[in-house]
Amino acid sequence: MREDLGAHTLGALEPEESAQISAHLAACPACRAEHAELAEVAALLSALLPMRTTGPGPEPAPLTFGRGKGARGEA
Ligand SMILES: [Zn+2]
Repeated sequence: MREDLGAHTLGALEPEESAQISAHLAACPACRAEHAELAEVAALLSALLPMRTTGPGPEPAPLTFGRGKGARGEA
């Protein structure tokens, strides 16, 4: 259950699995406490590592790199 708990905290589970974990958390104080800790860590990580791949947002376009350089007239 622990590994699923971590995945659930990161929002990496399927909706069905996530619902199961949520139901378990409601009935299991131990996992609820651990989930709270994991959520804190996840929040810290997302603050430190905004580029992490588990985010729901779109992937950054590779064009951004070349663009900045060209716009500044570097060379
Ligand atoms: Zn539990």
